[in-house]
Amino acid sequence: MKIIEEVKEAKTIGISGHIRPDGDCVGSVMSLYLYLKKELPDVRVDVYLEQPAEIFGCIKDINEIHTDFETDMVYDVFFTLDCNTDRLGGAQPLFERAGKKINIDHHISNTGCGDVNIIEPERSSTCELLYELLDVSKLDEEIAKALYIGIIHDCGVFQYSNTSPRTFQIAAELIKFGFDFSKLIDETFYEKTYVQSQIMGRALLESIRFMEGKCIVSMVDRKTMDFYHVGPKDLDGIVNQLRIIKGVECAIFMYEVGTLEYKVSMRSCGEVDVAAIAVKFGGGGHVRAAGCTMNGTYHDNINNLSKQIEEQLLS
Ligand code: 5GP
Ligand code: MN
Repeated sequence: MKIIEEVKEAKTIGISGHIRPDGDCVGSVMSLYLYLKKELPDVRVDVYLEQPAEIFGCIKDINEIHTDFETDMVYDVFFTLDCNTDRLGGAQPLFERAGKKINIDHHISNTGCGDVNIIEPERSSTCELLYELLDVSKLDEEIAKALYIGIIHDCGVFQYSNTSPRTFQIAAELIKFGFDFSKLIDETFYEKTYVQSQIMGRALLESIRFMEGKCIVSMVDRKTMDFYHVGPKDLDGIVNQLRIIKGVECAIFMYEVGTLEYKVSMRSCGEVDVAAIAVKFGGGGHVRAAGCTMNGTYHDNINNLSKQIEEQLLS
């Protein structure tokens, strides 16, 4: 399938991705946006997304994103990238009422919500999958950069097990466009502000190991986030840092989003299928990286999650 074939008749096209957009979500949405705008100058193309983190300011035309979802528009074609319809947030009604719905994703928990569904869980990222659906001869440096950002973010700069030979081949093609990929990796992936580093330090300091050190959990509450003046976007990377602690099989990180409500991130080194656990609690993701939102006290949530982890580790 090629994207351009799917939008041949369209006069209006909408694009969106998931709430709390990460690098792959922003990268895929923006690369498709830039591509379609260039290829179809007579078509109205709009992109909807929650405000991306400042680090993505290097992506061309990122300020053209509509962060306000209040519109009566009915699009001929609407793309949902990097998620299922349940995580579209404010863009969900736009997707539902579109003439043709297209869903492109690499999450194993996605059952497909479009008239056209391209779901390939073995892909490192939605950006990698999207690359295969675009006409490579029509790419330019800005589109390539957005795709590259998505790939490196979802495979931890080619570190995670979702990285395949194809991931490297595509990355090799993309860096031929000449953008400064080394700077891009530093500035969008590794670099942390001082307070981001401080709050990560606190989360590591206050982490607790259990199951003989095979599991580790940490939490940041509202009060602490307010003290450091940080939001959810500033907590990225904490769970990954917990996972790479020696002996850890499964890492859990949560932050308070409301009264008795926590956003949970889980990471596994391979023995535990965290996607299966996240799905049980209404979330989703990948075998080694998944998340959900849980209600209840912090300790109840740890108990409920650890029961699931234990079941898997003992089976
Ligand atoms: P993170 O822990 O970095 O927020 O997310 C890890 C992976 O799980 C990502 O692929 C993300 O899209 C997915 N994920 C995180 N939270 C949720 C959720 O609440 N629902 C679903 N379906 N997927 C989630
Ligand atoms: Mn992704």
